[in-house]
Amino acid sequence: MAGLSERMVALGSARSEIREAFAFAQARAAEVGPENVDDFSIGNPSVPAPESVGQTITRLVAEMDPVQLHGYTPAQGDPGVRQALADELNARYGTAYDKDCFYLTVGAAAALCCALSAMGCPGDEFITFAPYFPEYKVFVESAGGRLVAVPANIEDFQIDFAALDAALNPSTKAVIINSPNNPTGVVYSEATIRQLGQVLAEKSREYGHTIYLISDEPYREIVYGAEPLPWVPSYYANTLVCYSYSKSLSLPGQRIGYVLVPRTVEDFDLVYAAIAGAGRALGYVCAPNLFQQVAARCAGQTADISIYHRNRDLLLDSLREMGYTCAQPDGAFYLFPRALEPDARAFCLRARKYDLILVPGDSFGCPGHVRISYCVPTEQIQRALPKFKKLAEEYGL
Ligand code: PLP
Repeated sequence: MAGLSERMVALGSARSEIREAFAFAQARAAEVGPENVDDFSIGNPSVPAPESVGQTITRLVAEMDPVQLHGYTPAQGDPGVRQALADELNARYGTAYDKDCFYLTVGAAAALCCALSAMGCPGDEFITFAPYFPEYKVFVESAGGRLVAVPANIEDFQIDFAALDAALNPSTKAVIINSPNNPTGVVYSEATIRQLGQVLAEKSREYGHTIYLISDEPYREIVYGAEPLPWVPSYYANTLVCYSYSKSLSLPGQRIGYVLVPRTVEDFDLVYAAIAGAGRALGYVCAPNLFQQVAARCAGQTADISIYHRNRDLLLDSLREMGYTCAQPDGAFYLFPRALEPDARAFCLRARKYDLILVPGDSFGCPGHVRISYCVPTEQIQRALPKFKKLAEEYGL
């Protein structure tokens, strides 16, 4: 190879199954018309950003000094922005964060990369629960660690604590959780988070070193259940929160998010410094200032998630009625039903006969299931239901 990193060539050449399905849907739409293709492959928010976002941008452009607005900020983010984000979370969760707990990033992906690179040493293991967001493996390996995927309870996709116990060992550096979850839509109950905190505290004592909890929560506000989402750092002191406005404010292309390091984290100053060091080493420089300012003014708001809620109800109820089996998805905008044959890839190929585009669960470390992204117009779901029905009938349901 011409003096290139084999790993990078491989990463850049391989298309994920999600991207492959999306590209297939686009090609079919060009062939048979987009109205005939029902693409449920990709997790791109379908609801526009709230009007306040556009209004804020207009105001900022009109009123703020352009040199400042479009200029560099400190690497960790504009201090006023970070304080505004702290104030908003404090009002919501009764916490006492300050600006120096926040490190602003280009979305949750960069937040994860900073947090993982800050703590990744050769030989470190990072545990997550399958099914999981496939990029975790790429990010963990880039940070020098090894991703260990522990299967979740297959019935409800909550944590299987016996399996976690078997996977934890002195090389475990951190556990990564994602609730509301991509790809299952499942929200971790308070009991799950409480038990996880207890287990990690016990194991940290036993091994004589901190096991961090990385809470990846880009879907934090997209929840449909009656119970409020547990605030993870309240249950485990050594939690780092990775967040983004990609989903809550429908701004995935603008790349804005943060790592939150609560002061309860052991060696807070060193951990924060290592995250800043990771941001520097990765060449992130600073998060885009215009969207830092937008985040400061729009934090806590959401796009109109009632549309996702309606889509969830329509799709879940209809699929269950047809005989599909699906764990209760109380957040995000994904369903993860069981495929109707053991080989989910074969099942997805069969669905393509109807121009129904789904993603096999194998991509998420959980074969036998498919991911359906329902961040689509409700009319698309209505149009696709007869296709799901015909597909079910092929399997005798
Ligand atoms: N984590 C999860 C679970 C996701 O689903 C995504 C994006 O889909 C990300 C992180 C990355 O989000 P961002 O666009 O903010 O980088």
